[in-house]
Amino acid sequence: TEQELAGLPDDAPVGDENEIVAVPVVAVVGRPNVGKSTLVNRIIGRRQAVVEDVPGVTRDRVAYDANWIGREFTVVDTGGWEPDAKDRAAAIARQAEAAIATADVVLFVVDAMIGATDDDEKAVKMLRRSKKPVLLVANKVDNQARELEAHALWSLGLGQPYPISALHGRGSGELLDAVLAAFPTDAPLMREQKERGPRRVALVGRPNVGKSSLLNRLAKEERSVVDSVAGTTVDPVDSMVTVGGEVWQFVDTAGLRKRAGQASGTEYYASLRTSAAIEASEVTVVLFDASEVISEQDQRLLSMVSEAGRGVVLAFNKWDLVDDDRRHYLDKEIDRELKRIPWALRVNISALTGRAVDKLAPALRTALRSWEKRISTGRLNQWLTALVQATPHPVRGGRAPRIMFATQPGSCPPKFVLFTTGQLDAGYVRFIERKLREEFGFEGSPIEIAVKPRK
Ligand code: GDP
Ligand code: GDP
Repeated sequence: TEQELAGLPDDAPVGDENEIVAVPVVAVVGRPNVGKSTLVNRIIGRRQAVVEDVPGVTRDRVAYDANWIGREFTVVDTGGWEPDAKDRAAAIARQAEAAIATADVVLFVVDAMIGATDDDEKAVKMLRRSKKPVLLVANKVDNQARELEAHALWSLGLGQPYPISALHGRGSGELLDAVLAAFPTDAPLMREQKERGPRRVALVGRPNVGKSSLLNRLAKEERSVVDSVAGTTVDPVDSMVTVGGEVWQFVDTAGLRKRAGQASGTEYYASLRTSAAIEASEVTVVLFDASEVISEQDQRLLSMVSEAGRGVVLAFNKWDLVDDDRRHYLDKEIDRELKRIPWALRVNISALTGRAVDKLAPALRTALRSWEKRISTGRLNQWLTALVQATPHPVRGGRAPRIMFATQPGSCPPKFVLFTTGQLDAGYVRFIERKLREEFGFEGSPIEIAVKPRK
């Protein structure tokens, strides 16, 4: 709602378009009824439930995940493009133009049965101006006899027409081969892939919070510290520990296993080591001493963790020492000090008594699930369209940038790219992050959002 946006500062845009690499985007454009949706469904390999067979029926553009011979891309259905359209149709035409601006490759669909119309000619002019690679798709070429009609479309001056039947699939393989060939050479082949093997956990916390005690407790509870796991090489400084019936790789715990108590080396050295451990982990457990106030050192650790892009579980240890009084103050401290990572999971444990130590594994799993989660482009955009409609970007100086569509090109942690007509207010991006979390979860994981204004 509007209120949710009120009070959010209108400062610099967040997100760097270079930090997240998205798979290529293919925009499907053309007049209404030429078969764009049918083609999109063909490309994404799904039968469309309903095809509106009403001329002039316009749709909002939707984006989907697609894959052709192992190459992943995003395909955007742009609704009907009509150059002289009015009102809502005009808005859809603008969307199509915006979609073209964000696309790496444009599929311009013409109904070969009808042939090139005046509107098609106008569209060609606009497509030329966009300087994007355009493939001319001659649709509704359902049989050999119709190939001749497709041939007539050379007249549009867009080069070779690709004769296809979106409805029956004829020619779509050749078209997709050509699409792949037109992708920028530096585009990623696939969205980021998951890793295998035992999950890597960093156990961090300032000296004396109970790291060695916790590690020993975990090892004792499950009666197993494993030295090797088939098919993996274990760094000698790591500990393989069974927690919750699963082997976890606790990174850089050599010091913890041997000693009990004092911190090793200078604080500088310790902090380098901590940061390397976080870097090497998939999920980090930040241990606090719940009986003491959250210190500046705890804070530094938290910023390190929140910047590292790993899953996070906050474990408040020594809970056996926490009485009602302390708990009251601790709640306040947590509200105040942990604001920067409100999404982190929290467990209250005692390494000494073993209290709630069994809550750790489920929390780690939840954080990892969030960290690896991927929302399909179709689902993401369905949700986003409704959100943006209900709460549009605030108007600044008479204009408001529009979000054309979004994708999640990667996970670990989840990364989103918003394709827009201009930079977004930082407050609005935060609003989207909050809503993303409300809708899709992501408990225990950071998420990254990049804004990609059209070129
Ligand atoms: P859009 O408005 O451009 O998205 O067009 P649609 O995908 O909704 O298709 C419009 C109509 O053309 C529908 O009745 C489709 O079934 C039909 N159509 C789409 N592709 C083909 C095709 O390859 N051959 C034939 N014969 N009809 C098609
Ligand atoms: P590290 O420096 O973070 O590895 O901390 P240690 O595991 O060496 O623990 C520091 C001190 O805190 C030791 O005296 C532990 O016995 C004590 N300690 C650790 N966990 C708990 C706990 O849950 N409750 C209490 N009361 N003491 C604990």
